[in-house]
Amino acid sequence: MSDSTISSGPVSAETGPAASRRYSIPVRPPAVRRLRGYAFDPSLSTRLETAGINEITYSVPWEVSLDRGPTGEYLEVVDYDPSSDCFYEPVDLNNPYLIAQDGLAPSEGSPQFHQQMTYAVAMTTIRNFEQALGRKVLWRAHTEEKPQAGNTHANEETETFIQRLRIYPHAMREANAFYSPAKKALLFGYFNAITDQRDAFLPGGTVFTCLSHDIIAHETTHALLDGVHRRMIERTHPDSLAFHEAFSDIVALFQHFTFPEVLRSQIGKTRGDLTSFNLLGQLAQEFGVAIGNYGALRDAIGQVNEETKKWEPLTPDPQDYLTVFEPHARGSILVAAVFDAFTSIYRDRTADLLRIASGGTGVLPSGALHPDLVKRLADEAAKAARHVLLMCIRALDYCPPVNLTFGDYLRALITADMDIVPIDDRGYRLSFLEAFRRRGIYPQGVRNLSVGSLCWPTASENTRDSFKSLTDSLRAISDRSRYFRTRQETFEALEKMRKSLREQLCPIFEDNPLLESLTGLVIKPNNRVEGLTLDSAGEPSFEIHSLQPAQRVGPDGDLLNQLIISITQERILPLDPDFPQGQVIHFRGGCTLILDLDSLELRYLIVKPIWEVGDSRLIDQRNFIRTGQENLARVTYFSSDSAFTEPFAMLHRGF
Ligand SMILES: [Zn+2]
Repeated sequence: MSDSTISSGPVSAETGPAASRRYSIPVRPPAVRRLRGYAFDPSLSTRLETAGINEITYSVPWEVSLDRGPTGEYLEVVDYDPSSDCFYEPVDLNNPYLIAQDGLAPSEGSPQFHQQMTYAVAMTTIRNFEQALGRKVLWRAHTEEKPQAGNTHANEETETFIQRLRIYPHAMREANAFYSPAKKALLFGYFNAITDQRDAFLPGGTVFTCLSHDIIAHETTHALLDGVHRRMIERTHPDSLAFHEAFSDIVALFQHFTFPEVLRSQIGKTRGDLTSFNLLGQLAQEFGVAIGNYGALRDAIGQVNEETKKWEPLTPDPQDYLTVFEPHARGSILVAAVFDAFTSIYRDRTADLLRIASGGTGVLPSGALHPDLVKRLADEAAKAARHVLLMCIRALDYCPPVNLTFGDYLRALITADMDIVPIDDRGYRLSFLEAFRRRGIYPQGVRNLSVGSLCWPTASENTRDSFKSLTDSLRAISDRSRYFRTRQETFEALEKMRKSLREQLCPIFEDNPLLESLTGLVIKPNNRVEGLTLDSAGEPSFEIHSLQPAQRVGPDGDLLNQLIISITQERILPLDPDFPQGQVIHFRGGCTLILDLDSLELRYLIVKPIWEVGDSRLIDQRNFIRTGQENLARVTYFSSDSAFTEPFAMLHRGF
């Protein structure tokens, strides 16, 4: 809908204001669409103590042309249920009655509400990503690889724009929900509950995964993360799948803290101590209970003790990172570290309030907290949570393009934050460093653990000069990309930019002999490395893996205008160097370049070399596959070849 007018005709000099009651008032479309939904999932609406906070109103960006489905710019909800072979009628959110009452009322029995709920939560997640990344998000493009004539190794890639992610609220009758990279879709299942917790849940009742905020946010995050870094789903390290899982949980978890009603109620209940048992630290509660577990599926801050059936906070064990390899369990180490950083930031932000409220002792008197104090604590928690959420998402742009480890992610978090908030007067970065240290997560190749040494190194002057002309030529296209009306136009412009960048890179590498060692790439024709894939001319092949402009605004209004370029290469090598005819592995390397478009300088080079003396990363990847950790994940979660088409399907299955 464009500007519309409440009008019975334009006002003109001829007719004059008194001539009639005709007038013309331009009415702009609203900024947001308000839609009712569950804050958690339907099970909390049936409990007296939580019913009052479980229904909230989501404010999602107003989409100018939103069709029935809902089908908008980013999403298409397709409500086909294969188990009963029926299409449910799609909801029309532009129906004036629905606009007037913030959408349909939450209801387990209405498929149209299910459609509305998935749309509201997915759009909320998309908006958070766009705010953090400073650009419109794009789904993972459809890539077609065509082998080049006369060359068995090199492939030519064409990428096709994917306009909408499809959402199937009733895709299967099983305890599962997952993101399908091949279908570019989120598939939500439903199932009958099996539980002996008769007081908490109706045994045999139907559980819809599409009604859980956490599950929808988690799956949408998988899709968004895949759109930013499509190589992150490759299993090259014990952290690979674990990171995808952990990151999706982190986004779901911190989105909870943006709901003020829930926050106030839980802060009142826990007397301001968010590290004690509370609803906010749990994920996918109904799903967890319904499939027979006690407590939520994954508890970020504590767990119910199997013997006592009582909730206990988790104590960090630095050994876990060395011994736990199952992707969810390993992922929960990262979730807990981020949650820990958040709680210490929250404590720091609220210490003065507690001193005021306790007459300086810091120990609050017994009894319920004053509502004003609860509100102030909730405001601080919401602010801190929002900062942590945006920090975590923003860090994605500062990650290496392949083989991400938790330690690399910590470095990305610290560097990204340093760029946007140069003075860390609240101690956010120290809180992260401390929380990761307590869980034994250390980045490789860092001499000491300080905020300064964790920051990715800035590019040297020599390197910066080499990239100056490149930055200059890319800036014009990047500037234009901000004014494109549709995401498709942006995608097409970036595709052109990728092609032009490919042509410009080779001469830059020719001019500066140091660049290969700095970027970890092997681009010059005479510099051959074992197993390196080659292009049709027999030269080293490389891929501009992604190219993304970002315009971010810091809390003080500072503007960062950047271009993020990821370049990757591949080597195809035998798994066992002594048995060259045996199984092969795909070993990837590359770098992420962060260019500052205002100063035309290369800010950071984040490198995973395709080749290095000793090839230690290659040895690690071979060991990871040989020792069976990779196979362990595959056998546990994937059935044969389906692993390659649906990498998340089994990972999310209830058991
Ligand atoms: Zn997942």
